Amino acid sequence: MLIYDLDFPTLADTLKEWNEPVYRAKQIWQGLYQHLYASPEQFTNLSKPLREKLTERFSFSAFEVHTCRDSSDGYTQKTLFQLPDKRLIETVLMRYGDPADDHENSHQRVRNTLCISTQAGCAMGCVFCATGQIGFQRHLSSGEICAQVLYYARRLKAENETVTNVVLMGMGEPFHNYENTLAAIDRLNDSNGFNFGARRFTISTVGLAPQIKRFADEQRQVNLAISLHEVEDDKRLAIMPITKKYKIDEVLSACKYYIDKTHRRVTFEWALIYGVNDTPEIAKKLAQRLKGLMCHVNAIPLNPTTGYQGKATDRQRANQFKETLEQAGVPCTIRMRRGIDIQAGCGQLAGSVLAE
Ligand code: SAH
Ligand code: SF4
Repeated sequence: MLIYDLDFPTLADTLKEWNEPVYRAKQIWQGLYQHLYASPEQFTNLSKPLREKLTERFSFSAFEVHTCRDSSDGYTQKTLFQLPDKRLIETVLMRYGDPADDHENSHQRVRNTLCISTQAGCAMGCVFCATGQIGFQRHLSSGEICAQVLYYARRLKAENETVTNVVLMGMGEPFHNYENTLAAIDRLNDSNGFNFGARRFTISTVGLAPQIKRFADEQRQVNLAISLHEVEDDKRLAIMPITKKYKIDEVLSACKYYIDKTHRRVTFEWALIYGVNDTPEIAKKLAQRLKGLMCHVNAIPLNPTTGYQGKATDRQRANQFKETLEQAGVPCTIRMRRGIDIQAGCGQLAGSVLAE
């Protein structure tokens, strides 16, 4: 069993079964989540027999590095991990702000945003998405989700840096793997362990309405993003099959429920596809639908994939889309595409390796 799959009470029970004092469980928890130990040998505060027992009973390694690529600008790094059953998942580190400047300019903060996966492949089949083109392979366990963050936390620690934000926007649909995803967030959030603030996580969902409501009821501080991409059901259905199950109305009313319950702003994601969903008319329709909702639109030019003909919107059309939305009262940010040269788009690197 993977040690990162345990929550603290289960770890404490295991230690109790082994007739170890309670504080041992705390030492192990701190070793894993504060000191970021990656193997039992590093737990020098534990007896040798206990370390051996840990080695026998648990695995400390969720995956092996299969491929690691840096973008040419040095700001984006993508790692493809191979799980024990040979499945491949991706994790992307995006660095913002120059670390070199930061030392001289203490007011300038460096952001290290990690984009992690929640499934191998994805069942939702969005046609523009490289992960959707792979199809569903399996859910990741909570420990496999955590391990991606711990891996990069260790790497950054070696540079005196930390992970500052985690977005669940890698491979997979987080709300299709609801329990494990939220268990992973809770584990990393634990103030006696990794202590990563809930507000620094963002879950992105294709729009599973019942799970959006459930998430609202749980009243978490985690940020929520909804992948919308079209404003009319028939058009959205053509690129996002899930629209058959949950119509846009139902998704938006789940979002309204979420906003009413949590008083938190929702982000709508919009992949700008040239000539498909990037016209001023569509921007106007979108603004009408979103009016009155406490929200924000994140628009990003499409990352072209081999399985889909659509092209990225150009800068001028993207700016026009943003202006049209904002004139109608809906705030919008255009995100730059990052790491194009390392196939940092969702599922792209795994997709290209699987195709080789
Ligand atoms: N399954 C979740 C999270 C993973 S996808 C979701 O769909 O929200 C993360 C984001 O990347 C989503 O907004 C998704 O629509 C977007 N995306 C997927 N493929 C893309 C592409 N080729 N270009 C731009 N955005 C893409
Ligand atoms: Fe799955 Fe998200 Fe890709 Fe759609 S966009 S196929 S939901 S990962």
